[in-house]
Amino acid sequence: MPPYKTSGCGSPWRTAGRLPQRIANIQSMRQMVQSEVYPVPPEFAARAHVDAAAYERLYRWSIEDPDGFWKKEAAFLDWIKPFTEVSDTSFDVNNFRVRWFADGTLNGSVNCIDRHLAAKADKPAVFWEGDTPGESRVVTWGELADKVNRLANVLKSLGVGKGDVVAIYLPVIPEVMVAMMATIRIGAVHTVVFSGFSAESLENRIADSKAKVLITADEGFRGGRISPLKRNADDAVRNQPSIEHVIVVRRSGAEVPFTPGRDLWYDEATEAADPWCEPVEVGAEDPLFILYTSGSTGKPKGLVHTTAGYLVHAGTSWRIIFDWHEGDVFWSTADVGWVTAHSYKLYGPLLNGATTVMFEGVPSWPDASRWWSIIEKHRVNIFYTAPTALRSLMREGEAPVRKHDLSSLRVLGSVGEPINPEAWRWFHSVIGGGRCPIVDNYWQTETGAVTLVPIPGAIPNKPGMAAKPYFGIRPEVVSPEGVTLEGPAEGNMCFRGSWPGQARTILHDHERFLKTYFAPFPGRFFSGDGVTRDEDGYYRIAGRVDDVINVSGHRLGTVELESAIASHPAVAEAAVVGYNHDVKGQGVFAYVTLKADMPETEELRAEIRQWVRARISPIASPDIVQWAPALPKNRAGKILRRILLKIANNDFSDFGDTSTLADASVVEDIIARRKAEL
Ligand code: ATP
Ligand code: MG
Repeated sequence: MPPYKTSGCGSPWRTAGRLPQRIANIQSMRQMVQSEVYPVPPEFAARAHVDAAAYERLYRWSIEDPDGFWKKEAAFLDWIKPFTEVSDTSFDVNNFRVRWFADGTLNGSVNCIDRHLAAKADKPAVFWEGDTPGESRVVTWGELADKVNRLANVLKSLGVGKGDVVAIYLPVIPEVMVAMMATIRIGAVHTVVFSGFSAESLENRIADSKAKVLITADEGFRGGRISPLKRNADDAVRNQPSIEHVIVVRRSGAEVPFTPGRDLWYDEATEAADPWCEPVEVGAEDPLFILYTSGSTGKPKGLVHTTAGYLVHAGTSWRIIFDWHEGDVFWSTADVGWVTAHSYKLYGPLLNGATTVMFEGVPSWPDASRWWSIIEKHRVNIFYTAPTALRSLMREGEAPVRKHDLSSLRVLGSVGEPINPEAWRWFHSVIGGGRCPIVDNYWQTETGAVTLVPIPGAIPNKPGMAAKPYFGIRPEVVSPEGVTLEGPAEGNMCFRGSWPGQARTILHDHERFLKTYFAPFPGRFFSGDGVTRDEDGYYRIAGRVDDVINVSGHRLGTVELESAIASHPAVAEAAVVGYNHDVKGQGVFAYVTLKADMPETEELRAEIRQWVRARISPIASPDIVQWAPALPKNRAGKILRRILLKIANNDFSDFGDTSTLADASVVEDIIARRKAEL
């Protein structure tokens, strides 16, 4: 007997009785997942910003009259000089242009902070929780404004002006928000680098962005461990002459190397600075920030976002997709180094005057109940995280969750990769108590903010599906030949027509920008992801197009295969790649992480093959199942399949750019295991 509960093929025992709609005669997981629908709770729809009827009406308007729609949305911002022309856009690579609200002027920090002060100066902007339990801070809007103005003056005194780049290498502490806002207050451009990155990764981004000032901390804390941020910063700037000054936040208070003349202490400099800094008027199309992609597929690209279009898209969509209402407490667990955090942890809440939770640490330290304790403490209403974290917490079972009162939760969000239905159901039932819609929002650094999303008061959930287009977004499923497909279809995820929040270029490499996103399918933006659309017009992201596996002429998406494997009761997580196969062209190679205490046996391998065969098709059954106690992920928690692909093809050298890899020993371990099996 296997040590876990199992059952006949095709029987979704894990969810039996829990599905709102039990489907008879389930043939395959594909069908089962598609027919599993979670309606919008009527009481939720009743007070939502957007219900089903409003969605239909607004979406139609946004497509038929994009300029009219976005003009109305742009009234959300406070402008210095109003724009007269809404858009001027063309995706033709020979005549490419994307300009929104171009002759308007504004200041981002005024929109994010100043305009909330009259009503909220004494109200909390941030509830901060430190890595160590018990260490916390509350930052009011008034305090935030004071710090932002002072730091803006410090930057100015260091010679930073309009268009200059400020690099920010800080942990998740309120000062990161201050640093971003101070930068844009003076018309400068921020580039935030994840504080878990090495000196080398930071240096690469400084070299590319030519940052003038670096803002960092003495040390950072994550999961009880100390990271030597200032030492990394010193190493990173040593050979980067663009950096003239380094501003150091005292986080741990440890003694760290300090270069007089170049380095300044944040607290001393801001205390000495004037508490008012006149905001600089910038053009709508002036750059707001540069952000490097997370590097799942190779060398990160420095995407450039401009001011007004980005702020309109991020600010208005954040409020709608999370259905935030005045007084709600919002928490995004994303690190500040990712686009998720830019748009929906920092800019979205700031633009709307919302109270947010910031947490410096990791979900598993000191134990697996840390996140849930924070939700209880701050009565969090909207909780937004990533599938990778959910899967790791699922491994710990329900006990850590049950210790805490999560009844304040109303909306849950997921982003970063397709959420496998198994994790979706756990999130929905165990964390959300079965009552919270899940906002599985699909977008990219390139798109600036959301493109596909089940707006919670409007669109019923289907697990694993990012569902429907956001306003103003025109998704197309495009065949490899470039034909736009109608109805239920499978193909390349493209978007037709511009939207205000999209990135305008790759820094220093406009050619690459055009070639990557606009040349493959003329007239459309190409995301690089695969997608399927079902008979209800719901979209499901199928993974990166480059990762699609072609077995004997059948195209298989990695996400579907991985979701099927992860639905096996013994499995915690899986990653699938196609390896060179003499007969089939490509074979299916599955790396499988088992749940705690599950034995790595030959029987279990055979059973996993059978499990996939029954749920998808015999073609999809993995040819090779390789046990992997951990999978190689980047710092955003995404699986680096290009490394797994090389290993599957017995190529153990030259993995390309591995600077975004979170833990190099994981790769060594998998190689050793692979070699042992050859
Ligand atoms: P790089 O472009 O350097 O390889 P990256 O694509 O991982 O890095 P991001 O821009 O942070 O960097 O991530 C965007 C990608 O994440 C999307 O293209 C998609 O593959 C995936 N993704 C994000 N959210 C979702 C979601 N809700 N459902 C499915 N996939 C998602
Ligand atoms: Mg990408």
